[in-house]
Amino acid sequence: MFKYFTIIVTYYEIMYYKKRIGVYMVKEWNEYFLEIAKTCASRSNCLRAQVGAVIVGEDRKIKATGYNGTPSKVVSCYELGQCFRMENNIPSGTRYETCRSIHAEQNAIIQAGQDRCKDATMYIFGHNFICILCKRFIVQAGIKDVYLRKDDNSPIEHIYVNNIRQELSEKFYTKK
Ligand SMILES: [Zn+2]
Ligand SMILES: [Zn+2]
Repeated sequence: MFKYFTIIVTYYEIMYYKKRIGVYMVKEWNEYFLEIAKTCASRSNCLRAQVGAVIVGEDRKIKATGYNGTPSKVVSCYELGQCFRMENNIPSGTRYETCRSIHAEQNAIIQAGQDRCKDATMYIFGHNFICILCKRFIVQAGIKDVYLRKDDNSPIEHIYVNNIRQELSEKFYTKK
């Protein structure tokens, strides 16, 4: 009896020290979903922008994923071996008519559908801003929060979708 007690105590002691010295740590939720978004980004078929997005419900279940890529059966930059935007140094956030890809955020939203996006959180890996096209999609989908991380070394940024809504309301169609 005492022997089993010792084994159990030793097990918890090891777990405790492992945690203390950082050998094993339970991943925090935001880190976890951003890590999944990073994996999604690795399916991007544009040579310039590798971005992944994950939509997570309030129940912490994944509703959909997406990456930056061409519509189904449309030839990609990856297949062509060249990216028009890259070769012409088109600054990011501008001239979207020169891009054949569907952004990761939009791919995830169309896969999830509006019902599953309601009050959900979106995790984006690969850039630290949301483009003007995706902002509208995110607002209309009913997503509540967005977390972004540009790369492994950058901090996690949090955006309230209500602030995006506000920004869109103020940015356009206001009297000068
Ligand atoms: Zn491209
Ligand atoms: Zn976008």
